[in-house]
Amino acid sequence: MKPKKLKSLIKKTQAALQWPVSVVYKGDSLEIRSDHHDRGHTITWPTDLKAAGEVRDIEYLHELAHATLCETVHPLFSTICFEGVNEHTLDVVTPCFRATSDWFADAWLMKVAPDYEGPDIDDHLVIVLKSLQDKQSGSMEFLYGASLIIAQGIYYRNARLPLGGTLKQAVDAFLSVPPEKPTIQKYAKLVNLLLVPLQLRAKLTVDQSAWLISEIGEPPHGR
Ligand SMILES: [Zn+2]
Repeated sequence: MKPKKLKSLIKKTQAALQWPVSVVYKGDSLEIRSDHHDRGHTITWPTDLKAAGEVRDIEYLHELAHATLCETVHPLFSTICFEGVNEHTLDVVTPCFRATSDWFADAWLMKVAPDYEGPDIDDHLVIVLKSLQDKQSGSMEFLYGASLIIAQGIYYRNARLPLGGTLKQAVDAFLSVPPEKPTIQKYAKLVNLLLVPLQLRAKLTVDQSAWLISEIGEPPHGR
């Protein structure tokens, strides 16, 4: 797929959204937040020159994939909201939720732009495997990011990798929840499988506007 084709796909995806998309320049990473009360998407575009220079069309389309799932499936596919969760827990669980929503957003990308997203997965897989060889694999953030990419490598690219331990468990969790036809129930199922090593579990609030987090075996806090 030529870059021009990707640009027109971005236009088409943006035009298909019901809610307006605004871009705010700040910080050092590309991110989307969607407000389902005011019905709008805000994409944060990095002002850090190096980070901004590294933003590629496929990454921008990935943010629009979140927006599309937000409007067509459930708002929590583009914004991670918690209720009654302290800052420490937030730091611990956020990478897990991010990897979960990316599993579904990237499946949408594989559907609309496979010639672009497929090679992107290959590139990420090379980086992850190198980090594993270099043993840069301590943090949970790495675990969830790496297991997402390895699961995508296996699922879409027929990668064959010897895996063990927590990494294998996380990869198996992704592979046990096929990302096509996303629903918030599938999201909850996957995120809970991924939260097991942290001894935590997630439950939707009654109005499904946010996640409650509790320790396994304890009742959820909040509403
Ligand atoms: Zn994402």
